[in-house]
Amino acid sequence: MKRTKILLDENDIPKKWYNIQADLKTPMDPPLHPQTRQPIGPDDLKAIFPMELIKQEVSRDRYISIPSEVREIYRIWRPSPLYRARRLEKALKTPAEIYYKWEGVSPAGSHKPNSAVAQAYYNKKAGIERLATETGAGQWGSALAFATQLFGLQCRVYMVKCSYEQKPYRRILMETWGAEVFPSPTTLTNAGRETLKKDPQTSGSLGISISEAVEDAATHDNTNYALGSVLNHVVLHQTVIGLELKKQFELMDKYPDIICGCVGGGSNFSGTSFPFVRDKIMGKKPDLKVVSVEPLACPSLTAGEYRYDYGDSVGLTPLLKMYTLGHDFVPSAIHAGGLRYHGDSPLLSKLTKEGYMDALAYTQQEIFEAAMLFAQTEGFIVAPESAHAVRAAIDFAKMCKKKNEKKIIVFSNSGHGHFDLAAYDAYLNHKIVNGEYKKPLIKTAQ
Ligand SMILES: *Cc1c(COP(=O)(O)O)cnc(C)c1O
Repeated sequence: MKRTKILLDENDIPKKWYNIQADLKTPMDPPLHPQTRQPIGPDDLKAIFPMELIKQEVSRDRYISIPSEVREIYRIWRPSPLYRARRLEKALKTPAEIYYKWEGVSPAGSHKPNSAVAQAYYNKKAGIERLATETGAGQWGSALAFATQLFGLQCRVYMVKCSYEQKPYRRILMETWGAEVFPSPTTLTNAGRETLKKDPQTSGSLGISISEAVEDAATHDNTNYALGSVLNHVVLHQTVIGLELKKQFELMDKYPDIICGCVGGGSNFSGTSFPFVRDKIMGKKPDLKVVSVEPLACPSLTAGEYRYDYGDSVGLTPLLKMYTLGHDFVPSAIHAGGLRYHGDSPLLSKLTKEGYMDALAYTQQEIFEAAMLFAQTEGFIVAPESAHAVRAAIDFAKMCKKKNEKKIIVFSNSGHGHFDLAAYDAYLNHKIVNGEYKKPLIKTAQ
């Protein structure tokens, strides 16, 4: 049978998340206290995270059970479909097989609810009544608004002011799911007031919004903070994607040669690839290529340094060992807002440093060309973030054509672009600004 969709049953939703920390050859470098630079312990995080998530952050257990309450909610959209991109293959005249794991089917339209639902659950169980978070383009804020609504938690979102003004539809989604959304910086926190005093006209930044949300959580007993990417527990929750994907390939009796995905903080691609990276670490699949894709305007993996850096731009969060462009790096205002982060997941960074994973970077023009071809062959309009993965998959398929190789390529298709149509409009009107990284390439990784 010529399959287009490889579907699993609801009972195939994984019962456990996969924790790659169990399979690392050497342990992670610990997070450090922002002032003392000493390793931090669970107590340092208790003011803003529930203990179950802190435990997951440092756990070295290979599998961690997914609570049945979380699996019940996953059933709304999981297992997500794996597609064979037959029409794209045909357009490229490639002998390669191209597949994509489609996370655009979730209510919020991306992979982010996979972690938002788990985080809301553990906070509710710990007796927390309210979550505070930041959002840039609005993907994470809408995922958390959806998740907190289902668990009866309040949700406060500090949304970067320029996005709040330019992208009302994500805000309306959040408000529909019961969240309060404020354009950040606000006058509700010290961090916000300080920023406004210095620059009343500021358009805001993700860094300042993180500072506001963390302060809100630290100063309210009933409130915790939630982060949508980067941290180990977020990556852990996203492994539902890769575990399903592995099963979908098993059903076809196939195994991919190349896996690629876009990387902002690294959660969708880590979640998709880690169950396969495990085979590589174990020496079972030495030739598997695992490739992160990022914007040339924010090239943390391809041009950053591997070292300790702050998670936010102000320097309030613990120091994480990761690929970074420096916490004060401000990327250009590219449309792929979810990929504008100075650092990367410490787990994905370590596996890249150790050679298990590679990275590529593209201009915005290149990724929109790919997104257009994808929309015109496969039909789906993908998020500008996901378009980075589409571009890499297309380039690998073209290479296969040149060498006449019948490789199996799969990419993580992290979300739809229905709220990003202004970006497509800019492309159609020849107004895409590449916003390349201007600094000379840094080659001093320790
Ligand atoms: C947030 C987002 C990303 C980037 O975040 P990761 O943690 O790197 O996955 C990618 N794609 C979409 C659709 C997003 O919403």
